[in-house]
Amino acid sequence: MSSEPAEVVAYLRGRDAACPICDYNLRDIDEPVCPECGHRLELVISSPSLRTGPWTLAIIAPSLALGFDGVTLLITVIVAIVSGGASLTPGALFFILGLVTLTLISTIALAWLILDRRRFRRMQVRDQWRLAASLFVGVFVLHALGGLLIAAAGGL
Ligand SMILES: [Zn+2]
Repeated sequence: MSSEPAEVVAYLRGRDAACPICDYNLRDIDEPVCPECGHRLELVISSPSLRTGPWTLAIIAPSLALGFDGVTLLITVIVAIVSGGASLTPGALFFILGLVTLTLISTIALAWLILDRRRFRRMQVRDQWRLAASLFVGVFVLHALGGLLIAAAGGL
């Protein structure tokens, strides 16, 4: 629901506020349009819990993992198909199983974040950052463990 034009003008009467687009000072404007950049203005009610930093960090971790694991899985499967199955050593099968598992975990985490964003928004900002950082570290640790397991097994 957007604000009425008169409410915008009344709010800015005698009050300094920067245009959210161009930073022009909107003090005492006569219509809800920035005189500098020409964009329409409206009043909104917001909350610090809607800051995009924690949400972006939370989304980046499983997105990166999903992209990396998905592409690596696809390449591995294509190599297996092209080689007629000759590349499917026990190590390669373990690798594929690990990639499928990581891809599923990333997909579930990403789907939960997107589909249940309301729950994320309702968290305190501090808890949003904690969850986002935990996801980021968790994704890193899972992939580092996978790499160590592959190295310990002597490669693929
Ligand atoms: Zn402007």
